[in-house]
Amino acid sequence: MTNQPNRPANERAHASRRRFIKTTSGLVAAGAAVSPTHGWSDEPADGSTRVLIIVGPSSHPPGTHEVEAGGRLMKHALEQMENLSGIQADVVEGWPDQSLRDAASTVVFIGDLFPPNRLPNPQQNLADLDEMMQRGVGIACIHYATGLLGEDVTSDGDHPLLRWMGGYFANRSCPHHESFARVFPEATITPAETDHPVTRGWKEFTLRDEPYFNNYFGTEGNQLAPKATVLATSMLPPEAPKGETVAWCIEREDTGRGFGVVMPHYYKNWRDEDLRRLILNGIVWSAKVEVPAEGVKTKSPNLADFNPKSV
Ligand SMILES: [Zn+2]
Repeated sequence: MTNQPNRPANERAHASRRRFIKTTSGLVAAGAAVSPTHGWSDEPADGSTRVLIIVGPSSHPPGTHEVEAGGRLMKHALEQMENLSGIQADVVEGWPDQSLRDAASTVVFIGDLFPPNRLPNPQQNLADLDEMMQRGVGIACIHYATGLLGEDVTSDGDHPLLRWMGGYFANRSCPHHESFARVFPEATITPAETDHPVTRGWKEFTLRDEPYFNNYFGTEGNQLAPKATVLATSMLPPEAPKGETVAWCIEREDTGRGFGVVMPHYYKNWRDEDLRRLILNGIVWSAKVEVPAEGVKTKSPNLADFNPKSV
């Protein structure tokens, strides 16, 4: 379904009851799924949940980033989940038209840096996105799409992505903060200790990849906002390890949800079942669809099917 502007925030525990009282939409009566264990009140996909995947520019070498192939792979995975149906995905290269924006339950970005700022007409793109966010549409950024340049942010690091998604990768050109990008031969990614739906069904995994660290979460001592949740951490860098946040999410005041994950750098890492589940869980959650108890299950994708420059 498309997001309902008048739909109340999906809050924990007691909030779900209030929702039944206040909401007269037939959608809720038809499809509410309240888990007894966690209190989230998301709904099953109803056949019209649309995920809008926006592919931005990339100049990375073959086998890395592979943003077009990554967009096609995510669409395939979202439409072929083994334990969750009813989601359709649209993939666009460049800025989407109004009808696609209006239909989206959540928007997923993949590209070198945050695509709205890199595509033509950034101010209009950000205004369009703001309109979507105010309607409670979700947002998810994959790897370098979490990134902003100094020219994109104010002198103290402000940018709407901070509110929409709870944090970002601050490129070295940023005046206020510097996040770091390094390929680690073995980065171990650990689920955070939370019962958040996005952590369902995946376990600790180790990859050769480039999980960004020292990501930026705001002016309060770089702590996540109160309604943000750490989903995954990694002890980085190896010579001075610290529990770094490498995936996180936020529930916004406008009822929308944001999800950020700073991998994969290597296209082949989409083959990792745990990483894929973390990402797909995050996208599904951002669309306000109930994440299955065991997490989203997908077959291992045949990477060459999505026409990367290189696997
Ligand atoms: Zn990268």
